[in-house]
Amino acid sequence: MKRLGTWSLKWKIAVSYAALLVVVLSTTSAFVAWRFGSIIYARVQDRADATMEQILAVASPEQPQLGLQDVSASPLQVLLNSDNLAYWSSPETSIEIDNTGGYPLVKSTNLGEARIPPSQVNAAHPIEYRDLQVRGDPAIVEDRFVRVGANSVIVQVAQSLASVSQAVSEARRTVAIMLLVAIVAVVLLSIVLASQAINPIQVLSRAMREMGSERLDYRLNWPRNDEIGELAGSFDDLLSRLEAAFARERQFISDASHELKTPLTSINANAQMLLRWAERDERVRRDSLETIARESASLGEMLNGMLTLAKADRGDEIPKEPVSLIEEARMVVRNAAPRAKEKGLDLNFESAANSAIVLADAHLIRQMIGNLVDNAVKFTERGSVEVRVGTDDHHGWIEVRDTGAGIAEHDLPRVFERFYRADRARSRSVPGTGLGLAIVRSIARVHGGSVTAGRADGGGSFFRVVMPLLPDAPLTGLS
Ligand code: ADP
Repeated sequence: MKRLGTWSLKWKIAVSYAALLVVVLSTTSAFVAWRFGSIIYARVQDRADATMEQILAVASPEQPQLGLQDVSASPLQVLLNSDNLAYWSSPETSIEIDNTGGYPLVKSTNLGEARIPPSQVNAAHPIEYRDLQVRGDPAIVEDRFVRVGANSVIVQVAQSLASVSQAVSEARRTVAIMLLVAIVAVVLLSIVLASQAINPIQVLSRAMREMGSERLDYRLNWPRNDEIGELAGSFDDLLSRLEAAFARERQFISDASHELKTPLTSINANAQMLLRWAERDERVRRDSLETIARESASLGEMLNGMLTLAKADRGDEIPKEPVSLIEEARMVVRNAAPRAKEKGLDLNFESAANSAIVLADAHLIRQMIGNLVDNAVKFTERGSVEVRVGTDDHHGWIEVRDTGAGIAEHDLPRVFERFYRADRARSRSVPGTGLGLAIVRSIARVHGGSVTAGRADGGGSFFRVVMPLLPDAPLTGLS
């Protein structure tokens, strides 16, 4: 016998279901059979009572004794008249009247040679009911100790149970057969129901096993609309998300390799030039070294960007503390001021709130605002860059607006993608990695916030970051 713990779910459900129903059915059947028997038994006893009442009525002679012989005689004579006994008896009812010593005075003829076993009733205990065999049949015997005038007799009425006990046992047999059939049906039904309930789960798990890690495009497309369908639907959703995440990772690796290859190729080519021409041509030597320095700086910048992205993606590991958006933005603007001044741009900072505290990694927040301000200065040739910080309800916001060429409508949805650089022709003349805005978005998200891009009223670009203020800020990573 297997231990219950090692049974499959299907058998556990089937067996417990069947066992429960078998217990309920058996108890109900046993109760019905018992109740039926006791009702029938009570009826038989009622009949014995009725006959006894008729006989005892003789003891109160003021009642008219219709149908009886010798009614003018004494009550005792009436009682002991065998014709009267024949009148009171029936094929199912036998009567015997004994003296107090237990000897029979008179018997109904249907008893023949047999007797109703003598009774123990007496003046102190005048009534008794017994279950006995009379003439070889089961019977209920009612015994009464009766005073008739100066004498006492014992009246015994035996009501046969033969025909009813046959009916009762037939009924009980029928109930038992029905119970057996019901139990077999219940067991089979439990197995079928349990299989039906469990089969979809087995199909699901088989499908999952077959799928393996290579087949993320696999979908269960479960046709049913029940709980299993819901589970399969969630599983398909999970697969879609996993597939998208894997695709993003693959894209990132291919983009990153491509982006890293360009400066590396340039460094390599210039190193070759140096090897061949460095000693003969001073100008080539300087140009090559400058290019190598620039490209390796760009490589470093790109690697830093990728490291920051990786850090922001591991959201829950970032240590967070209360950080003032106003102070961080003010610091970024102060650092960017020399570059803006070099290009003849107005760089302004304005705070529309007294405080805007968020729960964040200060270094990442500075980098986020820094990337937006750097871009604004980088892509603006004339005019100004405005940085504003403010709050509304439960959020703090940072807006960076410039008067540059702006971002074309069709580029807006893509500028936050990794390595995406809008307007290639213009971007080529401006240094950059295409990771800046992806980093801004990752940092905003990891702090429970978001960033949007649009066109400023004057035609330049407009960026807005929104983050939850301290009481509402998430305590851990991505929400
Ligand atoms: P990078 O600046 O290194 O090119 P980013 O991810 O920071 O990369 O920006 C992606 C692209 O979005 C940029 O190449 C540029 O085309 C566009 N962009 C970003 N900020 C601005 C801005 N303030 N004005 C105009 N274009 C911008």
